[in-house]
Amino acid sequence: MSLTNDLNHLKEIDKEISLLNSAISLLWWDRSTIMPTKAAEERAEQISYLTILIHEKSTSKELNKIILRLSKNKSKLNHIDRAIINNYSWKISRINKLPKKHVKETSRTIVMAQHHWEIARKNNNFKIFEPYLKKIIELKKREAEYIDSKNHPYEVLLQDYERGMSLKILDETFNKLKPEIHTLIKRIKKSSKYGKEFNIKKIEFDVEKQKIACQDVSTLILEDNERFLITVSMHPFMTKISPNDLRITTSFRKDPLFSLFSTVHESGHALYESEFDQKLKYSILHDAPSLGIHESQSRLWENQVCKSKNFWKYYYPKYQKLFPKLKNISLERFYESINIVRPSLIRIESDELTYHLHIIIRYELEKKLIEGKIAVSELPVLWNKLYKEYLGITPKTDTEGVLQDVHWSQGSIAYFPTYTLGTIYSAMIYEQMLNENPKLEQEIEEGDFKFIKKWLKENIHKHGAVLSTSEIMEKCCGKKISEESLIKYYKNKFGNIYKI
Ligand SMILES: [Zn+2]
Repeated sequence: MSLTNDLNHLKEIDKEISLLNSAISLLWWDRSTIMPTKAAEERAEQISYLTILIHEKSTSKELNKIILRLSKNKSKLNHIDRAIINNYSWKISRINKLPKKHVKETSRTIVMAQHHWEIARKNNNFKIFEPYLKKIIELKKREAEYIDSKNHPYEVLLQDYERGMSLKILDETFNKLKPEIHTLIKRIKKSSKYGKEFNIKKIEFDVEKQKIACQDVSTLILEDNERFLITVSMHPFMTKISPNDLRITTSFRKDPLFSLFSTVHESGHALYESEFDQKLKYSILHDAPSLGIHESQSRLWENQVCKSKNFWKYYYPKYQKLFPKLKNISLERFYESINIVRPSLIRIESDELTYHLHIIIRYELEKKLIEGKIAVSELPVLWNKLYKEYLGITPKTDTEGVLQDVHWSQGSIAYFPTYTLGTIYSAMIYEQMLNENPKLEQEIEEGDFKFIKKWLKENIHKHGAVLSTSEIMEKCCGKKISEESLIKYYKNKFGNIYKI
């Protein structure tokens, strides 16, 4: 077997897997947006079938042999081909340890779990979802055991979302962030401005006009509106079917700006997915190296850009035209209203600051579930207890408490920390951009996002999964992960708003 033959063969398999993944993404998108609800079981079969197909291709003796042979000759290959091999080696080493029966059981369980999570939410009853979540936790514990029985099971699972991140660094970072957030919230609560902010939620915004605004901001970020589609789902998300088929979903809630900011958030994800190097198309490398880095891209657009005063200096006149009810609300009042800090029950409706406490609660609970220190049946009570302790409020129902997020029903355990990690990365990235371009905020004020887009493309987007998260962060920011930039950004932003 020649090296070229092996390489070509590997790329054929790589492309097949990539195409199958696209098909699964489309089935999931359809399932979460427009599929008739009765089709849940059939859809579970379809997704499960394709998942098994990918599993078979990824664990085939043929691919294993090719990877093994190529691994021995890595020095003769270019950096992209080496990265393909490294990524497959890592994936294969994990997948190979999972029995086919386990993969099938997991895939089927999560589709049914998501279905019952939806019913449980509608009926406001955790008990409906409980047996499915219990099954998921059992399967995940077993999965961690199969992959690496010597390591902490949570750290093993974390690698699926944040490869390279250790539990030690995660705990250290969260342990430094938590008291800083608590202190800032305490100071904000004591400020004379607290409670006197303008409450924009009192104003009702026409949904059709909200849709126009969503389309408008997405176009600002993504430019070409022939490659993305915005639809409605219960939970906003973004799925890439292919680089020119980016599906964004949003939802319209009581907060009139929820749809806008969630669309901005998902557009940030979409921009990342659409700008991987062309050479990486149909490959395992046409992806982010971790969810944290992916999240940094959505958070940056959502928080640092679109929740800044500079952005609204540019966009507010346009927005007021669309919503004449805002005619007499000053920019200052409006800006305050979109940045109100207030402990609340729903994670995705929370402000930038309290958001991290929502994440830390989930992190602490799921870690204990995996460690076997708490049982699934105890979750509603423990959830409410932590909300009382960290945020000072208690959910009245399961739907506004433990049932609010889709993640656990999808089998995504150890996923939540990536949201806070991504926010930390976004602050590091934005600080670096400002260092390199002192005129950046002025440019945002003029609606000029060229620098941001170019910087992100050059430093982050184009690399796809060729580089690891820590390599990208250290290359573009010159330092390792640190919560310091984020804390500095919060102190500055909320210090100005609340005059503290
Ligand atoms: Zn996101």
